[in-house]
Amino acid sequence: MAEDSDYVFISRDEFQPVSATVGNNKALKVKAQHHPHLGPEIVQKRSDKPQISRSKKLRLEQANKLKAYSVPIAPYNIGFLKEISCYVDGIAESLWPVNEKIHDNPELGFKEYIAHETLTNFMQTQVGWVVKSSVYGLETAWTAEYDSGRPGPVISFNVEMDALIGIGHSCGHNLIATASLGAALATASIMRSHQPNIPGKIILFGTPAEEGGGGKIKLINAGAYRDHAVDLSLMSHPGSTADCALMRTTAYTSFRVEYFGEEAHAAANPWLGINALDALITAYNALSVLRQQTMPGDIIQGHITHGGAAPNIIHAYAAGVFAVRADTLARLTQLKVKVDACFEAGAVATGARLVVTPLQEYANHVPNRVLARSYTRYWNELVPEKDGEDAYEPPTSKIPLDQDVDQMRGVTRASTDQGNVSYEMPSLHVGFSIVPGPQGQGPHNPEFAEAAGKRDAFYRCLRVSKALAGTALDVLTQRGLLKQVKDAWKADMAQSEKTEV
Ligand SMILES: [Zn+2]
Ligand SMILES: [Zn+2]
Repeated sequence: MAEDSDYVFISRDEFQPVSATVGNNKALKVKAQHHPHLGPEIVQKRSDKPQISRSKKLRLEQANKLKAYSVPIAPYNIGFLKEISCYVDGIAESLWPVNEKIHDNPELGFKEYIAHETLTNFMQTQVGWVVKSSVYGLETAWTAEYDSGRPGPVISFNVEMDALIGIGHSCGHNLIATASLGAALATASIMRSHQPNIPGKIILFGTPAEEGGGGKIKLINAGAYRDHAVDLSLMSHPGSTADCALMRTTAYTSFRVEYFGEEAHAAANPWLGINALDALITAYNALSVLRQQTMPGDIIQGHITHGGAAPNIIHAYAAGVFAVRADTLARLTQLKVKVDACFEAGAVATGARLVVTPLQEYANHVPNRVLARSYTRYWNELVPEKDGEDAYEPPTSKIPLDQDVDQMRGVTRASTDQGNVSYEMPSLHVGFSIVPGPQGQGPHNPEFAEAAGKRDAFYRCLRVSKALAGTALDVLTQRGLLKQVKDAWKADMAQSEKTEV
């Protein structure tokens, strides 16, 4: 360990966390510091100490040491990690059949009947949890709530359940469900086992149809999170890239474009017709031109679903589905104005009537850095010291403590409705790697679906459960941490409204 003459260290073994605080006395100011081998240590700044005699100094040191024990060290707490680990390892074999059942019975969005039944049945066997099936007008949405009976933070975990058409659980949502279940149960168990019990509430939301159906948006609009006065939302997603705490996804909008023209004989009297396909091709070409003028991060996708009836009829109807993505909702709005102009150009050029129907819109995910700091410290304590030390570990890695680096590693051009949740409340959507198939394929590939059903992937998601539970317990037990989380979220939201052009 590097020498730091400014600080006095108290070893991890000596540390026993309790819940009082040390106040604002600068001489007693302490901070927690993570050590790569020994774990967290409490550190007291020497330069803050007054000049005093040796005996008085000894007495003061003892007093300080006692007070140091009473600091709710932020954000790491090794005591909880041991408890969490023990608990999650203890329920692993009861979680495995749940994970397996969901994985082996892939269901499409809003039709996750088997997953809904499996998960709600399992939660009903858990002591102290109130489970509600088919909530907020969605057949496959559900809630499970643990209430400590004492007012405190309300922490939610989202449980995704849906698979992809034809390629099963190739997005690994079975692992998301398992990770959230394990985390919520571990958190509640530790809240209950402390005397007095830890105040607050834990809520699991079964969130249908992430793959294009926007189930979380429907739950937001139906008041699910508001009704439970949820303070923050935690979840995870498997992948084949680096483990990360700060995952940013893109803002996304998709829409159907239709042009209505007029039939006519394409050889005898084409001038009597209005060519809807020409309108769509003009728009498509305009989009191709626009693509050169877009910003890094802007994405325009599209396909033509209807291109007319026959070559000898002027095409009266043409249609397609298009999607636009950008780093933020604010940038997406700007880009969409330009994309819309391309479609209008098609209508102006041909005289066809344009109808645009919005299909789905996902906000970009804004990860909360305060929550991420907590998660990272727990995660880093759980993964092996060195990549590849264990035979089954190759892609697992520690998360960089530099959050800018973590965020760079966690950027994806994909989108999720958890993005919309992150605009409603502080959110963490961590990424974790599972061992991919032989071609190293990531999500939305059959190989990944196979990988998501393996024992190895299951064990990795239990590790996520532990780090998420640690994050939740930090918020529940550390005075002022929830405020820090919310302040960071407010600042993020203010920043999200700005877009550099
Ligand atoms: Zn997906
Ligand atoms: Zn997914």
